[in-house]
Amino acid sequence: MTKKFSIIILCLALCMGVLLSSCRLNSSNLYETHEFLMGTVIIQKIYHKDADKIAKEVNDRIAGIESAMTINKSGGEINLLNDAAGKEYVKLGEDTLYVLNKAKQYGEISNGAFDVTIGPLVKSWGVFTDNPKVPSKSEIDELLKLVNYKDINIDFENSTAMLSKKGQIVDLGGIAKGFAGDAAIEIYKKYGVESALISLGGNILTLGGKPDGTPWSVGIRNPRGADGSYIGIVSVKDKAVVSSGDYERFFEKDGVRYHHILDPKTGYPANTGLIGTTIVSDYSIDADALSTTVFVLGLEEGMKLVESLEGVEAVFITEDKKIYVTDGLKDTFTFKDESKEFEYVEKR
Ligand code: AMP
Ligand code: MG
Repeated sequence: MTKKFSIIILCLALCMGVLLSSCRLNSSNLYETHEFLMGTVIIQKIYHKDADKIAKEVNDRIAGIESAMTINKSGGEINLLNDAAGKEYVKLGEDTLYVLNKAKQYGEISNGAFDVTIGPLVKSWGVFTDNPKVPSKSEIDELLKLVNYKDINIDFENSTAMLSKKGQIVDLGGIAKGFAGDAAIEIYKKYGVESALISLGGNILTLGGKPDGTPWSVGIRNPRGADGSYIGIVSVKDKAVVSSGDYERFFEKDGVRYHHILDPKTGYPANTGLIGTTIVSDYSIDADALSTTVFVLGLEEGMKLVESLEGVEAVFITEDKKIYVTDGLKDTFTFKDESKEFEYVEKR
């Protein structure tokens, strides 16, 4: 073998080695876990050599947030706050105070369309229970008196909070998963992860792009299709993509669909002509609160609110199967409707 020939062989071997090791790196560095927390399946896809350890830390963090903020299991800080309603201030941890304060801010921004003191009505409808019911009009009117985000009193100095009236119940179901998603991204960043995706039910968060640098494709669910069917995709990096809809939790009675997003003005499931909303923003706490908010506000008011907020984009799906997106999303949204039932309205 000539010297020149051996050098070529050596170079080829080195190139192959680099290629093979980068393949190995890519495939072995993707770690995916599924865990049931916060009433949903949490899926993490992490590209990092310590991904298993990181994923576990994230699941533990989410479990802690769930314990503090749920009203579906006993104990927990929000339950303490609710039990002391109209009586006394209770000590709350930093996370709970932060989420409570954000929730109150979204109450203000939306003029009460988003209101986490909706708890008494959520309980009465029981959409999440085995025995959901349509409450009587008089019961709804009575419970509506307890719904007012302005009754959430927060004392930051002493890290305490109190609800003004006895019987008031805070339900963070419309925002807590958003907070948990942001907490997960914080942990990924702490470990130097550059590429990851986490899904918490209808909440998707992306860190960076895919390992090859291209954006993640996040599907927007077809609200009338089966699980896994989409009406389009958004291509994103470093964004939260959070959806709300009347398909997530509902029961039917006498041919009417009663879903889990309530209008705090009426006490009934929001009925503004929307069946699905999606918010794209930097933080999922904002996206989560806002997807619920605009669902209650409806297309016109919801669009106005989103357009007034910096760095927030949205997709609206109406019950007459039309799809509208904010101007800032036109380049990242791709309409792709396999059902062929929806119409993309590009110009409003
Ligand atoms: P999401 O799935 O994020 O849209 O949130 C819906 C959940 O938020 C419901 O299951 C309730 O727990 C709670 N919720 C319902 N209606 C409202 C509302 N108008 N404002 C705030 N939270 C709500
Ligand atoms: Mg929400």
